[in-house]
Amino acid sequence: MFQQARRKLSAICCLTMAGIVLIILLCCLHISEKNMYGQEKALFFLQANAISSDLQDSENISIEWYLRSIGNAQNALSLEIDGIPSTLTSVALPQEQQELLQRLKDAPGQIIHIPSAGTDSVKLEKDFGEYKERNGRFLVMHTRFFVQEHEISATYLYSLGRFQQDVRRQRICFFAIWLISILALYLFSYAFTSHVLKPLIQNDEKQKHFIAFASHELRSPLAVFKTGLSLLKNSPAADASGRIFSLLDKEMSRMERLIQDLLCLVKMEQADLHFQFQPVCLTDLLQSVYEKYAPLAAEKQICLRCCIPTLPPLQAKEDTACACDPQRMEQAVTILLDNALSYTPAGQEIALHLFGQRGKWCIQVMDTGIGIPDGEKKKIFDRFYRADPSRSQKEHFGLGLSIAKEICAAHGGKISVSDTAGGGSTFTICLPKGTD
Ligand code: ADP
Repeated sequence: MFQQARRKLSAICCLTMAGIVLIILLCCLHISEKNMYGQEKALFFLQANAISSDLQDSENISIEWYLRSIGNAQNALSLEIDGIPSTLTSVALPQEQQELLQRLKDAPGQIIHIPSAGTDSVKLEKDFGEYKERNGRFLVMHTRFFVQEHEISATYLYSLGRFQQDVRRQRICFFAIWLISILALYLFSYAFTSHVLKPLIQNDEKQKHFIAFASHELRSPLAVFKTGLSLLKNSPAADASGRIFSLLDKEMSRMERLIQDLLCLVKMEQADLHFQFQPVCLTDLLQSVYEKYAPLAAEKQICLRCCIPTLPPLQAKEDTACACDPQRMEQAVTILLDNALSYTPAGQEIALHLFGQRGKWCIQVMDTGIGIPDGEKKKIFDRFYRADPSRSQKEHFGLGLSIAKEICAAHGGKISVSDTAGGGSTFTICLPKGTD
């Protein structure tokens, strides 16, 4: 699905950009061609004006002058004196150019007039135009004037062949640039859309894992229910049913806990879980968590210590006040303490710390338990992640730390894990002091 979307997006992105590049290239091409044409026209006017002024002095006229004036072999110049073609034209001009001049004479209507900046006088008539035919494009000057009662007329054809060749070469060049840019744009678009879609793909993957794990975790208590109910149906003996009911009850609580955790995560994700922020004395909060867990720690023969600032009660209330949701913060600390108790063997130690650090309150749950390998430290905050599923207990789903992480994030804080000096894990929750 994402592969197809990526290809489609890349194609749309690439085509849009290719269109924009094409428009820019066409504009550049148009401007460049206009400039080139302008240059050719300027050159033509220069040559045409030189010819017409040379013609007014008959001493200038010679075969050398004629050949020099034509310049390019594709140009042509025809001279007529009193309507009779000059011998210069028939002698010096190739047959092909003579035919061209004849064709031009036969179709005067095909000349598109070009307004010129030069001044026409009564004595000297000058007409400029553009002539197009199968052999190419030409700029034309037709001039007529009188010298000693003789009418002299000249037609000068300036070939635009070289200009057309340059234009063609330039167009091919621009087209090649455009084709190469399409390829580059497609590669860029593909990389760009991959980058844009990456978070969506990751999210989709996470969602799939989440559903797969949740269904797996919910299936096992249901299997126990099914077996238990069929046992009850087949042997409703009082002693067996007591055991089965207690088993079902345990599974029911487990399932309830899982569903509560899932709902909590989903609500936090949808920002649907409303936090009741209020000034909370963190000393009191930790003290109360400590008191709740001290009996359980004692039962497990684990030494639980509460290392919080020993301030007079009133001062402690003021000095360790933090704006947070007391219930949710207690939930986060409980998750850490619950984990510490689960992953710390008997005879070891767990300590609860509270201290201030650079505008933050830090709550630390430190244990000397089994510890977490470095490679697992980042992953343990992912949903349903259990560092080693084989060592996990049945009531652990791998959701606790992700819930704690979300709670901390909602408070503008952070949760991190490090090693306890000498072995074990230390989880630290940092909350901004100024949260309100
Ligand atoms: P779980 O419900 O499995 O404890 P968590 O999200 O709370 O899920 O923890 C994820 C994993 O992190 C646990 O499965 C465990 O492997 C590891 N872990 C968490 N806390 C500790 C700890 N204090 N000591 C060692 N490993 C821990």
